[in-house]
Amino acid sequence: MSRFIAGADRDQVWLLPERLDDYVSEGNPVRFIDAFVEGLDPQQVPLLLTAPAATGRPRYAPGDLLKLFIYGYLNRVRSSRELEHLTQRNLEVIWLLKRLRPDHKTISEFRRVHRAAFKQVFRQFNVLCRDLALFGAELVAIDGTFFKAVNSRSRNFPQAKLENLIKNVDKGIEGYLKDLELNDAAADSPDALGTVKEANVDDLKERIAKLQSAKARYEQMQKDLEESGESQVSLTDPDARLLNKSTAQGSVVGYNVQSVVDGEHHLIVEIEATNQGNDFGQFTKMAVQAKEQLQVETLIGVADGGYYQINDLKAAEAQGIEVHVPQREDRLEKKGLFAREELRYDKEQDCYHCPGGARLERKSDNQIRGLRYEVYANSAACRDCPLRKQCTTGKLRKIRHEENPEVMKRVRERMAAQPEVYARRKGLVEHPFGTMKFWWGQGSLLTRGLAAVNAEVTLSALAYNMKRALKVVGVRALLERVSPALLASAS
Ligand code: SF4
Repeated sequence: MSRFIAGADRDQVWLLPERLDDYVSEGNPVRFIDAFVEGLDPQQVPLLLTAPAATGRPRYAPGDLLKLFIYGYLNRVRSSRELEHLTQRNLEVIWLLKRLRPDHKTISEFRRVHRAAFKQVFRQFNVLCRDLALFGAELVAIDGTFFKAVNSRSRNFPQAKLENLIKNVDKGIEGYLKDLELNDAAADSPDALGTVKEANVDDLKERIAKLQSAKARYEQMQKDLEESGESQVSLTDPDARLLNKSTAQGSVVGYNVQSVVDGEHHLIVEIEATNQGNDFGQFTKMAVQAKEQLQVETLIGVADGGYYQINDLKAAEAQGIEVHVPQREDRLEKKGLFAREELRYDKEQDCYHCPGGARLERKSDNQIRGLRYEVYANSAACRDCPLRKQCTTGKLRKIRHEENPEVMKRVRERMAAQPEVYARRKGLVEHPFGTMKFWWGQGSLLTRGLAAVNAEVTLSALAYNMKRALKVVGVRALLERVSPALLASAS
């Protein structure tokens, strides 16, 4: 007799089949997903009010497909085909959908058509977290990270790349034309050196035609860019942009996802995908949205130097946000180099006087998303300056001049008095992004277009918040909040 445990006989007929419910334990998070979606207020999530058409085939209830997406993202399954497979072989999903088996087309179409609903559901879950006092609602950290779009670099064309490609195509055509000329000359004088074989002439003509058609394509893209006012074209996902960061992230064709994270349990208060290459000028928008979601009058907002734009920070202060954002140049002071105050602004002459006795002149007027700033520098003076090593880590010292020096002073003093507030930034913002991008492998997007990407990252954020809440308070506390009656009948 075998000492191994034997499975059930596959041909066994069960007189009393097991209940589907027996496969899902009382503390299984899937029970919460079910109760949460069933308990959603249709006024807040109008998708749930959608009535089926009077004719045609019956449709799947939107709530059922919503449950499937929440379950999928919570369990690192995002693709519609994989979600379809789950409905056939995963007992939790079979329980959740009561044996419904929508196909992948139905599933992906639901995500495409109802993408706005995911934000509403995310907000409803945050309302639940607020009721459970899971938000500290005192301090939030704001940061952005790049998510990779469904668009390879080879199908992204910034203006400069197009110019280079056209130059290279011209060079290529010129080379092939020279070969053809040499060939013609060889026809007149068969002993000429460097000629092309007869058989290659057609090949050369074909190559020239290919290059000419590529050039026409690039020129058309340039024209489109001029007309649209954009700086680059992405062929697979038109909304994706080549984004550059001077950090380990490097450059990527994708989206800059902004998030606001609460200081208490690292829950995401707000999330938004943008295709802007930097975080400049995003502070007020994100902080104010978070304040509204948390329903508080004041909030401490922490972000890195990429968000430092004095008019934007001033606007945030006016909206009740206590700003903790370092000026990029403060890093130089920390390294023991000349502090910004040591370079004195001369309003009458509109220049900065530096410790080396040079005048730093206004070099450029820059504007990002309507927010102006000017750069002052003097490359000639810095090149030969004996104090350069005490002043800058680069070739020259640049000063980013901004109005409202009183705001600048206030923020600096506040940060100097409470360094522990800014010190919390990294630990807060990097937790959700690290989890979503690296633990769950969701740093590469599956959908295209800004609206679809926003829905996708919102689902990731909802799954992240749900996972945090399940960990902090447990399934029972969450179930109690959404469906006390259900819990009573279960116990
Ligand atoms: S490095 Fe440039 S800015 Fe700095 S002290 Fe010398 S001249 Fe002035």
